[in-house]
Amino acid sequence: MRCPRCETSLSVIIKGYFQRNNTPAEKRQRFLCKSCKSQFSQTSGSLDEGQKRPDLHHPIFMLLISGVSQRRAAKLCSTTQITVVRKLVRMAKFSQAAHAARLSGMRKSVKTAVFDEMEAFEHSKCKPVAIAVAVEEGSRIILSATAASMPAKGRLAAISRRRYGKRVDHRKHALGMALATISHVAAADLLVKSDQCPRYPKLVRKHLPGAEHKTFKGRRGCVVGQGELKGGGWDPLFSLNHTCAMVRDNVKCLSRRTWCTTKRVDRLQCRLDLYVGAHNVMIDLKHQGRGTQKIWPLGVLAVAPAGAAM
Ligand SMILES: [Zn+2]
Repeated sequence: MRCPRCETSLSVIIKGYFQRNNTPAEKRQRFLCKSCKSQFSQTSGSLDEGQKRPDLHHPIFMLLISGVSQRRAAKLCSTTQITVVRKLVRMAKFSQAAHAARLSGMRKSVKTAVFDEMEAFEHSKCKPVAIAVAVEEGSRIILSATAASMPAKGRLAAISRRRYGKRVDHRKHALGMALATISHVAAADLLVKSDQCPRYPKLVRKHLPGAEHKTFKGRRGCVVGQGELKGGGWDPLFSLNHTCAMVRDNVKCLSRRTWCTTKRVDRLQCRLDLYVGAHNVMIDLKHQGRGTQKIWPLGVLAVAPAGAAM
């Protein structure tokens, strides 16, 4: 057993047991580090640390990345919505940390990246949300998915302003995050692809100065594919559109024509963080020919976020 503070196992001895206050109750081994005098157990710094219902992590995780709403996840796990939200926030932090570790391992490896924004809304169509998504072309690894509030467009703009006041536009910031992530993992000869949105070229020049930027005309969505997959033959942005369709399908509050809407942008971000971790692990497994393997124990949530340990 390694001491989480000294990162060594040389001075660690066992020091009795303790009863965990969780359900089902269990006995846990306690350890003592003789050099820094800290005491810890096997769960210190892990997802289960200090949790009364660590047994709920796995089912809630699987339900929330499989297109089930938080309410229904609570019903299916015989727990409360509050517990589901708390678990969601905690697991999202771990998923973020694991994603950051993955990105550091991908440095200078991405040759082609595709980015775009998806549209969703919180509570009402009058309060739209943009989700900036960046994926690696080919592998369809999600590099970044960031939700940001945006003002309503078209005939809803006036209604939105009257009901909810002026809505702040954080799209530039979210897109900047996506592009900064691309630049973090980009190879020297990076090619970025996107649609022909007039806001994109300037941001690409700012965040990815050396990269080549190719744009493609946007197309109408086909009947299936959550409006993200495009009809009419070969799609140059397929990697991104397919990924966006998967995100929409598997994060319940993003489905189209749904009455299950997200109520908070930060919680939507948690759902996205959770899905991104799971999606990338599923892709890894598929490439390794281990598609039927369980994704849960494979490190989706194995990296502790800063400040979680001890
Ligand atoms: Zn120590």
